[in-house]
Amino acid sequence: MCIFCKIANKEIPSKIVYEDPYVIAFLDINPRSKGHTLVVPKKHYKTLDEMPDEELCHLIKGVKETIKILKKLNFDGYNIVNNNGKAAGQEIDHVHIHIIPRYEGDEAVKFGEVKDIDLDEVYKIIKS
Ligand code: AMP
Ligand code: ZN
Repeated sequence: MCIFCKIANKEIPSKIVYEDPYVIAFLDINPRSKGHTLVVPKKHYKTLDEMPDEELCHLIKGVKETIKILKKLNFDGYNIVNNNGKAAGQEIDHVHIHIIPRYEGDEAVKFGEVKDIDLDEVYKIIKS
């Protein structure tokens, strides 16, 4: 059983922020900002696209409920991050949504540099 399944089953302790029958949200042990939280479906799926639509609805609803709770931290904004696959930086193979509260002037999350990519070519592939 994977580590997030174990957390969902309470076999491994975590600092639970929000829980309902479908999701569990808990503080990330390596926080990138104050209140960095992971929202995880209780059922094991590796990547977001594997999830049935209904489960996805439960997951995003769980994200919203968790944000409402985190508002006590008085953040100024937040990033939602979701890594799928090793190449994208997914370390734990159980879907999880990062909620990263942001505070004016912090540098918790930075996107990479803009790349010189031919948009016409990419669009042609997507549309073919
Ligand atoms: P990712 O790179 O998107 O797969 O993120 C995995 C995240 O899980 C990392 O930010 C880790 O800090 C976090 N993490 C790993 N183990 C635990 C744990 N036992 N409790 C809370 N967060 C964890
Ligand atoms: Zn799992």
